[in-house]
Amino acid sequence: MEPRLSVVVPAYNEAPNLPTLVREIEEAVAPLGEPWELVVVDDGSTDDTPAVLDSLGRSHPSLRVLRFAGNAGQSAAFLAGFAAARGKVVVTLDADLQNNPADIPELLRQLEGKDAVLGVRRRRRDSALRRLSSRTANAVRRGVTGDGLADVGCSLKAFRREHLLDLPRFNGVHRFFGTLLVWKGCRIAEVPVDHRPRRAGEAKYNLRNRAFRTLLDLIAMRWLRSRWVRYEIER
Ligand code: UDP
Ligand code: MG
Repeated sequence: MEPRLSVVVPAYNEAPNLPTLVREIEEAVAPLGEPWELVVVDDGSTDDTPAVLDSLGRSHPSLRVLRFAGNAGQSAAFLAGFAAARGKVVVTLDADLQNNPADIPELLRQLEGKDAVLGVRRRRRDSALRRLSSRTANAVRRGVTGDGLADVGCSLKAFRREHLLDLPRFNGVHRFFGTLLVWKGCRIAEVPVDHRPRRAGEAKYNLRNRAFRTLLDLIAMRWLRSRWVRYEIER
């Protein structure tokens, strides 16, 4: 049966987290009683991720794995996952268990009558430096983009898939999915979600590599906003 719901997860060197992740997603989604699939995009992992996914695939028929030939980044992993997803509804989350799959049913309820639902991390379980830099980045982004969104860094989101197929393809776009949908006039809900500390594997970003790239991306987004195509079809 064609899945109605696709859960898309980018994974780069997340071997120790994947068995729990797959189990938690299944526990959250299977009771909904809808045909669903889990698309894990292995972003060129160099740890045991491929072997762990192979073995999980044998016991979880809903699991599909896309494997990149090399590390292409989180944006690439999301875009590839969206293209591969077959469900009309797409849910995204990180592989490191910081997002809680138990929030997925509530996200789907809120998607009723909306185009996208964005998670807002209720109590961030990251270092003080991370929280401060994230708060600053969120404020600057709101100023530049006018998107009014609380927390675009939370990967836990739900979308109608049609809105994910014409996104601009640049590295870093995953931080602007919400912004771009606001600009397109999509109806968006924001819902508070759980956030947990990363217990295994390593964080892939640090202040230096994230802050600088995000700043460059914001300059590009400011330009894009000024040139954004807007029209209203009268008849
Ligand atoms: N990730 C990825 N490719 C990368 C970097 C990260 O697919 O090049 C994945 C990673 O495995 C995780 C998610 O993106 O599932 C978020 O990464 P991370 O937890 O390191 O980011 P943070 O929580 O620190 O924002
Ligand atoms: Mg993380």
